[in-house]
Amino acid sequence: MLAIRKQQRLLLAGGALTPFLVTIFERIAAREIPATIVYEDDLVLAFRDANPKAPAHVLMVPKKCIPRLAEAKAPDHAVLGHLLLKAAEVAAKLGLDKTGYRLVINNGPDGGETVPHLHIHILGGRAMGWPPG
Ligand code: AMP
Repeated sequence: MLAIRKQQRLLLAGGALTPFLVTIFERIAAREIPATIVYEDDLVLAFRDANPKAPAHVLMVPKKCIPRLAEAKAPDHAVLGHLLLKAAEVAAKLGLDKTGYRLVINNGPDGGETVPHLHIHILGGRAMGWPPG
């Protein structure tokens, strides 16, 4: 998958494709952009958010670029389940399971999505307000 994306980047350099084909999160997975990685396996990656909104703020992303939850398809069933299960594991690894934590998926402009690569925010280390802003 990353090899295909690299090929796309070469095409992009030649002006053939739009920049949306390679997301910042794919570049983190490819180690092209530094990040503090807290978990990785074949399907998913978790790393610290660069602009944390809570004492603990980690992003869980599928390595396969699904732009957003609304564009996930039936074949993504397994990776979506894996993402959630691993989010709970990462939260526990960060010690958040004792006091609680919040998972957030922003979908589209009104949802507050800024990076078009599906990600789950894992937020913890403080009490969260409700409803969210
Ligand atoms: P969203 O607004 O739901 O699309 O979330 C995107 C998140 O990505 C924001 O919380 C950003 O702070 C975070 N972010 C953007 N660039 C980076 C980066 N290079 N490393 C880590 N987190 C990032």
